[in-house]
Amino acid sequence: MKALVLQPHTTHLQVKEWPEPQIKRPDEIKVKVLHVGICGTDREEASGGRADAPAGEIELVIGHEMISRVVEVGKEVRSVQVGDLVVITVRRGCGACAACQEGRSDMCQTGNYTERGIKGRHGFQCEYVVDQEAFAVKVDPSIAAIGVLAEPMSVVQKAIEEAGIVQMSRLPYLKNPQTWLEGKSVLVAGLGPIGLLAALVLRLRKANVFGLDIVDPKSPRAQILTAMGGKYITKAGQNDSFDLILDAAGIAKLDFDLTSLLAINGIFVLTGVPGDQRLLNVDGAKLMRQMVLKNQVMVGSVNESLHHFKNGLKDLKAADQEWPGVVSKLITKHVPYTSFSDVMSHHTPDEIKVVIDWSP
Ligand SMILES: [Zn+2]
Ligand SMILES: [Zn+2]
Repeated sequence: MKALVLQPHTTHLQVKEWPEPQIKRPDEIKVKVLHVGICGTDREEASGGRADAPAGEIELVIGHEMISRVVEVGKEVRSVQVGDLVVITVRRGCGACAACQEGRSDMCQTGNYTERGIKGRHGFQCEYVVDQEAFAVKVDPSIAAIGVLAEPMSVVQKAIEEAGIVQMSRLPYLKNPQTWLEGKSVLVAGLGPIGLLAALVLRLRKANVFGLDIVDPKSPRAQILTAMGGKYITKAGQNDSFDLILDAAGIAKLDFDLTSLLAINGIFVLTGVPGDQRLLNVDGAKLMRQMVLKNQVMVGSVNESLHHFKNGLKDLKAADQEWPGVVSKLITKHVPYTSFSDVMSHHTPDEIKVVIDWSP
């Protein structure tokens, strides 16, 4: 089969012949890969950054945001059948820590986890993949066209779930995890795929969503936000106040500036990973004073677990019904795998999610 293969820590990335994986255990499934999204992580890997081949190997099949069709199942597989659409999760636990033993490798305490397409385990930018049934999540055929968003959506699900868990556990007036966001003022900073999917989930939960970015209000990012009932802003006002601020931009200076807009008892959730090395001038005492006197929380959130994929797929379906034709606009480009280099190295301002097609 063909696969998109990287020599980690170099920019050497190519489509090449690769051994087709075969089912070896009774709980495994084999899938034909349909589409694989690319994101900043893939571009970082392809530019010589963070990426690791499996132990003892020198190459890595990249790709971690996928949707596929089951073509073969092992003898003991019960939850999926040949023909089903599935997404396969990314992270595999270290096997040693308490979090991983509880099925929460996203909270791994040792750091010795692996990730398909990123760290020590081959990814999904290839024609066929084999994995255990336990890591596959079924996708409703009605959302086949947007199911490739399941992985970034699962990142969003975890971030918003974390905010809810923290707030529900400390604020006596919040009674219901399903409705705690209703009518709340929330700010999403950065309207890339993560930011827009966060806005989507927050709108489904009936929050008043403000989306901050610097693109033209006529650009697709702003239009998608507005179509979901969010309000697009290019600057937050000094007197604005938000119960929840969700960072999806990963710009440290912006985040420190935005802390002044956090409401009493507010929560600030960080999902972006700043790459900038510049030092910042921050009035640390003012920030700490504010956080203490206003009972504020700042929490970081990375990766996801199986239930975040499941909940994310439910929300993608609900959003597709609520705002027909809007969610699919997040996917701004499809390219065949042979054209990977066109999209891996450069992207346009109007791009949101680019997807590589492995099968029509
Ligand atoms: Zn990604
Ligand atoms: Zn672990």
